[in-house]
Amino acid sequence: PSQLNGSYTFDNYIEGDCNRLARSAGLAVANKPGTTSFNPLMVYGGVGLGKTHLVQAIGNHIKATAPERFVLYVSAEKFTNQFIDSVQRTAVQEFANFYLQVDALILDDVQFLANKGKTQEMFFHIFNHLHQSGKQIVMTSDRPPKDLQGLEDRLLNRFKWGLTADVQSPDFETRVAIIRNKMDQDGIDIPPPHVVDYLANSVHTNVRELEGVIASLVAQSSLSRRDIDLEMVKQALRHIIEEVEAEVNLDFIQKTVAAYFGISVDLLKDKTRKKEVVTARQVAMYFAKHHTSHTLKTIGFHFGGRDHTTVMHSVQTVSDLVDSDKKFREQVDELRKKFAK
Ligand code: ADP
Ligand code: MG
Repeated sequence: PSQLNGSYTFDNYIEGDCNRLARSAGLAVANKPGTTSFNPLMVYGGVGLGKTHLVQAIGNHIKATAPERFVLYVSAEKFTNQFIDSVQRTAVQEFANFYLQVDALILDDVQFLANKGKTQEMFFHIFNHLHQSGKQIVMTSDRPPKDLQGLEDRLLNRFKWGLTADVQSPDFETRVAIIRNKMDQDGIDIPPPHVVDYLANSVHTNVRELEGVIASLVAQSSLSRRDIDLEMVKQALRHIIEEVEAEVNLDFIQKTVAAYFGISVDLLKDKTRKKEVVTARQVAMYFAKHHTSHTLKTIGFHFGGRDHTTVMHSVQTVSDLVDSDKKFREQVDELRKKFAK
């Protein structure tokens, strides 16, 4: 069994600025496994951004165009467990032999091998053998190779032989495309643009979360036999925000954001108009709006007695920046993780 999931294809992998290089390298590898210079192909990026989907699509594409090839998808975790198990059964050679037959090896979440010396040694051996025989190796990681602490240098060096490409949080257009595509696949009517836009603007952490909201909307729509409208979207989003809210309060948001920007909480509440402080203050207000149930008025009160229109303006400014400025979006996403469960 190849462990491939046929529902992950290139067809339903939406292309955007956030994944263009990784996607096209993946397609190249899928068309000519083992014979491009993208060997190994390493895809890295945060959680829920489509790494597994992409590498599964590579596997499925190879399988579809060259059925005789032995394509194997395995998570690094499963690889590790299988290896440990083979050690216990004194069947290490058998384990190795199995992997040495593979034509295309897809190892997902390679960061899991960190600090597992013996497993890394085995993978190193398999890697070398496969690479020398012109077999394709594809890997994913939740961070760039240079940040993979606990992985041996000789292994990390091998990763540099091929191509490393990242996947990033989807931009607005990609989110819209993902929403439309998913709803279309699920066979429901695509809501009018202002509803789709609202949803796309509200969830920009990762695709998995976005899909979660879409799934609940689709279910809601079929159950109630109602088309998805703005009210339904807001309701679904409220639900998610409430889940997060329980653990987050204003204090925590202020402390976390201030620390992130290297300023004191007092400055957030101060009248200072220094650029760094203003940005930090706006970001903190943005999270206060999205991750607590406080009104704009209450939020303003906790930020040195500011007016609710100031808060509203701040939230809007941050939303706009999140959409237009990639670097900024990454910072906000990083912070957002601290406020999600
Ligand atoms: P990761 O492995 O990076 O954590 P996944 O590949 O599991 O993320 O993706 C999470 C979900 O989002 C999956 O259901 C996947 O199909 C979907 N997804 C991610 N990126 C895209 C994309 N560009 N187009 C369509 N679906 C996507
Ligand atoms: Mg994954």
